Amino acid sequence: MQNTLRWKKFPVLDNGFVCLVDVMGDDDAIVQAARVSYGEGTRKVSDNRTLLRYLMRHQHTTPFEMVEIKFLIRVPMDTWRQWIRHRTASVNEYSTRYSIAIDAAYETEPTAWRKQSDSNRQGSDGFIDESAGFELCEAERVFHQQARELYNSRIEQGIAREQARKDLPLSTYTEAYWKTNLHNLFHFLRLRMASDAQFEIRSYAETIGHAIVKPLFPMAWEAFVDYQFESLRLSKPDRDMITRITAAGKVPVDESEFMRLQDEAWRNLERCRERDECIAKLRGLGLVR
Ligand SMILES: Cc1cc2nc3c(=O)[nH]c(=O)nc-3n(C[C@H](O)[C@H](O)[C@H](O)COP(=O)(O)OP(=O)(O)OC[C@H]3O[C@@H](n4cnc5c(N)ncnc54)[C@H](O)[C@@H]3O)c2cc1C
Repeated sequence: MQNTLRWKKFPVLDNGFVCLVDVMGDDDAIVQAARVSYGEGTRKVSDNRTLLRYLMRHQHTTPFEMVEIKFLIRVPMDTWRQWIRHRTASVNEYSTRYSIAIDAAYETEPTAWRKQSDSNRQGSDGFIDESAGFELCEAERVFHQQARELYNSRIEQGIAREQARKDLPLSTYTEAYWKTNLHNLFHFLRLRMASDAQFEIRSYAETIGHAIVKPLFPMAWEAFVDYQFESLRLSKPDRDMITRITAAGKVPVDESEFMRLQDEAWRNLERCRERDECIAKLRGLGLVR
């Protein structure tokens, strides 16, 4: 599997990609490392899958650190800015101080301009009309072309690459080697594959997850999905709400009944993100209509 995946460029966005360069270890390596701490006895009582799922469930994370993965990625600079916040990786990025900047910028499709969300300041909600989208695309195209022409003219005039680059848009693609271990990669994937992650970085994370990590580590991936990605974290206020709702009798309850039973700390708040999140969780569990 490793050999068929290595150096294969999985396209992301209009000009980006992720590519597996190297990998050290597999599902067995995780289990093998764990057995050092648990001893031979574990082989009798638990097969590899059971042990691996136990490790993930109980956050016994170090065996997952035994696996190392190295990627080559091509990504717009604004997305890279979010990506690079994950500090537990080793990075070497294409230098626009040393080399001419990659002549490609992420261009948005006319139907892909997202509207600002009213409820989430960090998010988007829906798309603008395609006709308005065409106008934004044209403006983007002109802007990208002007920015590139300015950059090229500075280079032609002998301006140092380190300075000529300063007005390139954040949509300009960069490339980097990104090496991390499986524990930290799962942390990255959990945050960046989530529905509240920005579409662009989510596209990269989903490609890494589904096209590369899943086939390389089928058991670890399954455990990650079951116990991290698709799991639901309940806070104490969430659990108290569930207790009150189930004690009150019939489920599911209406939202008005939820509000009647709500946490005292939320009661006088007109807007409360924690309460909204609690309702969403309880709806998902079929406890609130
Ligand atoms: C939806 C979303 C919105 C975000 N919004 C913003 C924002 O508005 N502004 C912003 O600046 N960032 C934002 N971030 C970035 C976020 O705060 C993290 O920097 C990023 O997700 C990396 O996560 P991390 O630190 O857990 O990962 P890593 O850097 O890989 O670290 C992994 C873990 O190692 C430990 N660790 C690493 N370094 C340290 C340290 N120095 N001290 C203590 N523990 C450490 C922590 O336990 C950490 O969880 C956002 C992220 C997401 C997913």
